[in-house]
Amino acid sequence: MSAACALAEAGLRVKLLERRAYLGGRASSYRHPGVDEVIDNCQHVLFGCCTNLVGFYTRIGVAERIHWTTTMTMIEPGGQQTRLASSRWLPAPLHGLPSILAAKALTRADKLALARAFRKLMRPVAAESDETLGTWLRRNGQTPGAINRFWRLVIASALNADVDEIALPYAAKVIRELFLNSAEAGSMGMSTVPLSELYSGAEQFLREHGGEVVFNASVEGAAWDEENSQWTLTTRTGIHVADFLVIALPFEGTAKLLPLMPPADGVEKLASQIARQAHGPICSVHLWFDREVTELDHAVLLDREIHWMYNKSRLQPWRTAKGSYLELVVSASREFAALSREEAIALAVRELAEFFPQVATAKLEKAALVKEVRATFTVPPGIDAARPRTASPWPNCMLAGDWIATGWPSTMESAARSGHLAAEAVCAAMDEPRTFLDPDLKPRGLMRFVRTAASS
Ligand SMILES: Cc1cc2nc3c(=O)[nH]c(=O)nc-3n(C[C@H](O)[C@H](O)[C@H](O)COP(=O)(O)OP(=O)(O)OC[C@H]3O[C@@H](n4cnc5c(N)ncnc54)[C@H](O)[C@@H]3O)c2cc1C
Repeated sequence: MSAACALAEAGLRVKLLERRAYLGGRASSYRHPGVDEVIDNCQHVLFGCCTNLVGFYTRIGVAERIHWTTTMTMIEPGGQQTRLASSRWLPAPLHGLPSILAAKALTRADKLALARAFRKLMRPVAAESDETLGTWLRRNGQTPGAINRFWRLVIASALNADVDEIALPYAAKVIRELFLNSAEAGSMGMSTVPLSELYSGAEQFLREHGGEVVFNASVEGAAWDEENSQWTLTTRTGIHVADFLVIALPFEGTAKLLPLMPPADGVEKLASQIARQAHGPICSVHLWFDREVTELDHAVLLDREIHWMYNKSRLQPWRTAKGSYLELVVSASREFAALSREEAIALAVRELAEFFPQVATAKLEKAALVKEVRATFTVPPGIDAARPRTASPWPNCMLAGDWIATGWPSTMESAARSGHLAAEAVCAAMDEPRTFLDPDLKPRGLMRFVRTAASS
């Protein structure tokens, strides 16, 4: 979508072929038949540092539909709350320090360990480092409290993997962007409308710029006509001809397409890169209660299977249902993904009551469980060698999708970046170079003086 809209804005006539009947891909919403409600396949959050995603939202006119916050509440079983917020008076990277020092959820030893770790991670880690986050945490004296209540819950869950499966440079990037560079970079955004409604802005934008979205159009084959420099794409519902092709699929979808593409040098390498990719699951439990059970918009839930609580009734106030609608997210948990619907919902409600006592007296009106087994690609050490660049093995064909070499983990920002890179590559191939990549936010305060060359 980001490639299509950037190119449409540049004056190209763009056709977006989408297999499903709605936009959004892995970030989408639909009417769940079991609860008769429109739900997101999972709560998606973005951060201020997601400049290309914000740029894309701005281009298609939906940026004001994002609700931003700079506070994060951690809750312990029993209900004790710790509020992490940015100080307005202290320069980055010290802006988060007062609330971390005051955190009731962390011991003195945890806080000292975190402060030491943050100081070390102020400078980027060399991209070629083959260390995992887990090894680095143990090597750098991180306490069990800091590991379980911060590194596992906040960082590993953002990267949707266990600390021992995450390449250190990716974890270090998340720390710098969310906690060190600036308060603005770390502010968190959530859509106030269902995700497919948010992304339907792309369809309208394309139409207004002479393009079109073709739904239910699964691409089943692509042929390159050398003589006329044209691609012909086959879908069940029709044939589409184009001068340029951007393949913006997840790695599994790209793998399925490979045997249907024309032979070319470099296809084998691409196939071997795809073979090294793996994905991690994310589950979400959607609960409707007959009354409000918390006044918080969202929270990080400590020491239990459920990790994040999003109060959708508050985040999406247009929802008219009486009572309240909460979404609970469980990242990087293969065990939770293996539970049955009944087991998962019962566990989620039981645990939720430990954080919010009102749950015990509230009536659960209805519930849904969404398991996304192929939610995100994992970022173990060495993954960068398995992330292909924008240029593809085929002529006039670019690759996009979150798993392309953007330097970002599996996020909507990585997808938006990859799309902007693909759009730039198309314009370059037409000898009409354009810049679509939105620049990163500049570090603020004292972070401006931190050397950006990677440390080892
Ligand atoms: C449960 C869950 C939670 C997540 N949480 C977050 C989060 O909080 N923040 C965040 O930034 N990211 C999050 N992500 C990751 C984010 O959703 C992805 O990184 C992003 O959506 C990837 O976008 P993409 O365009 O690369 O791929 P996709 O979203 O997978 O889009 C690919 C599109 O191609 C279509 N398609 C596939 N095959 C064909 C074909 N043959 N022909 C035509 N069309 C085809 C698909 O239908 C889909 O629409 C989460 C993902 C999941 C699943």
